[in-house]
Amino acid sequence: MTPEAPARKAPEEEDVPELCAIPNCGGEAIRHLTLTEARRAFPQLSEKGRRAPLCREHYKEWKKSTKEARKLDRLAW
Ligand SMILES: [Zn+2]
Repeated sequence: MTPEAPARKAPEEEDVPELCAIPNCGGEAIRHLTLTEARRAFPQLSEKGRRAPLCREHYKEWKKSTKEARKLDRLAW
């Protein structure tokens, strides 16, 4: 009888760091936005998929620009 080989975990769904959705960034994603949300700040994003992972830097940028957009919205009203 041969000893059982240790079962290897298949890391298919876990532990795979997603990369930032911004072209040419390649940073590790720390937040997930819906694509619609992300495109408010980054209209250059492709419309493929539903989610847009963002790295720390781009998330900060996104927060900043959506905040400004909201302020502008209010002024426009
Ligand atoms: Zn990024």
